[in-house]
Amino acid sequence: MIRYALRCDQDHDFDMWFADSDTFDALAREKHVSCPECDSTAVTKALMAPGVAKSKKPQAMTNTPAPREIARMIKEYRAKVMAETTDVGSKFPEQVRDMHEGIIDQAPIRGQATPEEAKSLVEDGISILPVPPEPPKEN
Ligand SMILES: [Zn+2]
Repeated sequence: MIRYALRCDQDHDFDMWFADSDTFDALAREKHVSCPECDSTAVTKALMAPGVAKSKKPQAMTNTPAPREIARMIKEYRAKVMAETTDVGSKFPEQVRDMHEGIIDQAPIRGQATPEEAKSLVEDGISILPVPPEPPKEN
């Protein structure tokens, strides 16, 4: 249920409850919503808030980013990783180890590692990060 603050064309303010916004729209369109004071059916929504805050800005319920926002962040992070690293493919575990041991110069690289190889690298104190998968395309 939604409570709408309504106003007629004579500037009478009143409240009414509707199942949802579609119901209000349908009833108002068919002129089934009338002002209790003057019976005018020229009724418009004054505001949709239950009268607590006068701010027109909708308040976020939580600080959790929306799924779309998370997908965007992952996409950006992935793009950054792709732009800043060199793909060494299956040589990744070997090259990372060589860098760790100072055999070759440090460089940002990415590539494939089997779960065993990744585990072995982490156990040897070599920090590696998974590249996030491509997020699903937005419709
Ligand atoms: Zn009225």
